[in-house]
Amino acid sequence: MNMIGENAKTVAARVDGARQWRLLMEVAQYGARDDGGVDRPALSAHDVAARNHLVDWASARGLSAYQDDAANLFIRLEGRNPDLPPLLMGSHLDSQPTGGKFDGAYGVIAGCEVLAAIQDAGIVPDRSLEAVSWTNEEGSRFLPGATGSSAFAGTRQLADMRDKQTVDGSNVGQEIDAVIAATRAQRRSLAAASAFAHLEAHIEQGPVLERENIRIGIVEGIQGVMRLRIAISGEAAHAGTTPHALRKDAVVAMARVIDTLDPLTRESEDVLRLTFGRIEVQPNVPNTVPESAVMTIDLRHPSGEEIERVFALIETAAIEQVAPCTASVERISMVAPVAFPEAVLATIEAAASALGENARRIVSGAGHDSLHLARICPTGMVFVPCERGVSHNPAEAASSDDLAAGTRVLAAAAMALLESPSS
Ligand SMILES: [Zn+2]
Repeated sequence: MNMIGENAKTVAARVDGARQWRLLMEVAQYGARDDGGVDRPALSAHDVAARNHLVDWASARGLSAYQDDAANLFIRLEGRNPDLPPLLMGSHLDSQPTGGKFDGAYGVIAGCEVLAAIQDAGIVPDRSLEAVSWTNEEGSRFLPGATGSSAFAGTRQLADMRDKQTVDGSNVGQEIDAVIAATRAQRRSLAAASAFAHLEAHIEQGPVLERENIRIGIVEGIQGVMRLRIAISGEAAHAGTTPHALRKDAVVAMARVIDTLDPLTRESEDVLRLTFGRIEVQPNVPNTVPESAVMTIDLRHPSGEEIERVFALIETAAIEQVAPCTASVERISMVAPVAFPEAVLATIEAAASALGENARRIVSGAGHDSLHLARICPTGMVFVPCERGVSHNPAEAASSDDLAAGTRVLAAAAMALLESPSS
C-alpha cells in the first residue's frame, strides 16, 4: 500500500525552496540582532511586525488570516467544505533573546509554503489547511511557555495565563489584547477551536541528523521533564575551629548526592538527561561551614516510567548520602512525555521515502507546541538538520536545501493525511 498519492507528490514538487528561504529571511528582519541572530520576544512589537508580514503575504496570495483569543495566528487555505476541522501546520514566531532565524519561524513558514504549493498545483482539497503561529512557545518573556498551543488544546486555561506578568512587569492579558488589536487578521473564538491533525516542521536543535548525514527526522515523541528540588540542612560552624568529625556540612553532603546520581546518565545510550542547574548555599561565605544547600534537578527521559524510576533513586540518594545532614526532596513539576501516533509517523515515513529522502526516527529532547496539540488531534513532527545542532543561539544555521526537503515531506504528509480513509 502506498499512502502517498499523486496529489501529494504534485504538491511536494511545487514546494519552492527559494521562495520559502526569502520569506524566512524577511521575517528574520523583525528583531534581527547585529550578530545575525534574532531577538523577537513573544507579544513584542517585533512579534507583531512578523505576524503582519505573514498576514500581508497571505492576502497577496488570496489566503485569509485569523487570530484567536490567545493571539494564535492562522493563515487559511479554504477547502471545499469549510465546516470540516482544518489540518494545521504550526510552530512559533517568538524567539529566545539570543535566538536564531530558524527555531519556530521555519515551521510557521514551511506551513505557509505548503499552502502556496497547493495553490500553485491548482488543487482545492475538501478540508481546509492552516499555517499557524502559536503564541509564546519559548516562554522566555513570560511563563508558562507554549501559551497559545496549550490554550488551544485546552491543556491549560487561557484565563490563568492572562493573569501572569512578563519579565518587564506588564500584564500578559493586556499584551495579548494589544497584539490582537495591532494584527490585521480577523477574530475567531478560541471556543471554536478545532483541528483534524497537526504537523510541525522544526530544526532538530541537536546534532544527530547532521552527524548521520540524514535529512529528515521523523519525531517519535517528545521526552518528559520533571523538575525537582533537593534541600539539604546541616549546621553552620566556624571554618577554623570545628573538627571535621563534628561538622554537618551541607555542601559536602550535596556533592555526595551529585556524585551518586551523575553516573546514572552513563548507564544507557545517553538517553537520560540529568542537570543540576541551580545551587544555592547558605550562608554562602568563605569561612563558615554551610548550613544549607538547595539544588534543582531537571530530569528528562522519553519514558514516564523511567522518570519515576530515577526520581525514586534520587530520593534514596538524598536519604542515604547526606548523613549527618538531613534532606528533603520536592517535586516541582512534571510534563509527561508524548508519543506521536504510529499512523502519523508511518505517513511521514512514506512521504520521505516517496520523495527519495533518507530519514530516521528520532526523539525530541526539547519541548514543542506539538506536545500540546498531540492531546487533541493526530500530531507529528518533521525535523531537519541544523549546523552542529546549535540552537537558542544567534549562530543557529540551516541550509535552504534541507529546509526545502523538510517542507516537501511536510507537504506530502499533509496531503496524504487529508486523503487517508479516516478523513
Ligand atoms: Zn521551537
